[in-house]
Amino acid sequence: MEATGKISPANVGFEKQYGPLINGEMTKPANGYIDSVNAATGEVLAQIGRGGEEDIDRAVKAARTAFTGWADTSIEARSALLNKIADILENNQERLKMMECMDTGRALHEFDLDYQLAIYQFRYFAGAVLTHYEGESRPVDNGYLMTKKEPLGVCAQIIPWNVPMIMTAFKLAPALAAGNTVVLKPAEDACLSVIEFGKLLSDVLPKGVVNMVPGYGTEAGQALIDHPDVDKLAFTGSVGVGRLVGKTAGERILPVTLELGGKAPHIVFPDVDIDSAVENATLGYTFFNGESCILGTRLLVHDDIYDEFVEKLIERAKQIKIGPPTDRSTRLASIINEKQGERVLNYFDIAKEEGANILYGGNRVTVPGHEHGYFIEPTIIEAEPNMRIAQEEIFGPAATVTRWSEVEEMIQEANDVEYGLAAGLMTEDLESALDVANKLDAGSIWINSYFNFQSGAPFGGYKNSGVGREYSKEALDEYSQSKSIVAGFKLPPP
Ligand code: NAD
Repeated sequence: MEATGKISPANVGFEKQYGPLINGEMTKPANGYIDSVNAATGEVLAQIGRGGEEDIDRAVKAARTAFTGWADTSIEARSALLNKIADILENNQERLKMMECMDTGRALHEFDLDYQLAIYQFRYFAGAVLTHYEGESRPVDNGYLMTKKEPLGVCAQIIPWNVPMIMTAFKLAPALAAGNTVVLKPAEDACLSVIEFGKLLSDVLPKGVVNMVPGYGTEAGQALIDHPDVDKLAFTGSVGVGRLVGKTAGERILPVTLELGGKAPHIVFPDVDIDSAVENATLGYTFFNGESCILGTRLLVHDDIYDEFVEKLIERAKQIKIGPPTDRSTRLASIINEKQGERVLNYFDIAKEEGANILYGGNRVTVPGHEHGYFIEPTIIEAEPNMRIAQEEIFGPAATVTRWSEVEEMIQEANDVEYGLAAGLMTEDLESALDVANKLDAGSIWINSYFNFQSGAPFGGYKNSGVGREYSKEALDEYSQSKSIVAGFKLPPP
């Protein structure tokens, strides 16, 4: 869908109200509705259900009822359905992308990548389940050993607002492939495209296999993790809420996956082609509007090329077009809401107070007709590695730059942060790159191509970035348990 003519909630196709989606039907929420607004203009796009305990209970019951039938479906049938889900997403992507763009405030062009990743995710698990969800059988002394994988049951999944469809696919695809049913709680700030997608799923999935309950984290989210009849907790979001989810899982001995924050180092060696390295670094800190846990926001640049690299990085930042999210030529658009926008700007004040040097950017920009939005300049900050601006997740289009000269010291600096989700390296010297990659505490490492997502590459964090892996066949293990059965002909002698 191109941004032509007047784009209004009605002509994009939003429903007026999005209640909890249970058993394939949009239902009425017990506690009424809340407005969901366009992040850039403040216009009300639709109302979403203010999900609470009652809605969660209905959704969990629906998922429980659907579980037996779904778990018994053959892996071939589930694989075929996952491919159908990918087709549905592919065929409806232009409308959903526009919805998600208006809901999140992110630039429309970015959603080409988001939706490609989401579609691939369903296709990947359609294939992976056929080859990686098998048990074994072999003769042993006095009998046979058989192993099999079984789904966990009803999975409670909670996702954030920054990349709604990617997160939905990361959560749903492996869970469904493994034979589980789901109650998904999307984020209150951006869930409209997700529930629209949920509606489309009722054309292919049996009733109750996927249920979605929108609402606030402290209400719908809390009720979901506290529900006594869920069998698995999966969460993506802040470290604070992640701890809470982990604690609940610990108390109830539930399997849990947590995908939390990040503060990825992006390391520039002296042998790079500086122009391409600047391009890659710029993509690495500005994509997803700067609102992602995987961004390469700590640029560690070798002393020999530091000055030229930073000068070019600033020049590149000046060229980035900030504009209306729905304009396809826009490269940076609005932060999700005022709270996050102010949080980002506040980090720039903290940086100045700590003695960091804002080399470029640091300001909110007004985009005509979109005064409600928080449009923030791409921001480059020269900082010491131990400063808060270089240690904490900003969730805005900002990167720190720091010099390095000794490899071992640089590795120490790269690892000296509470997170370990991702890292990037730029060099022509593959041997050095692999050596450093081996020593970095990060779940995903990209050499010379930041965000080079490949289906099948395990995605997840070291340290406070989380627990468990998504995006790869390992995710099938996160959503299943193994059983061994030994059939003996007779008991072995004592
Ligand atoms: P959050 O952790 O508060 O929210 C994420 C999801 O958890 C949302 O669906 C929310 O409704 C839900 N939630 C909140 N409180 C809950 C509770 N008590 N029980 C159950 N569910 C609950 O994140 P946020 O407020 O959207 O963003 C805050 C910060 O988190 C950001 O600034 C950023 O640093 C980080 N963040 C990280 C990611 C990521 O992908 N790792 C995504 C978004 C935000």
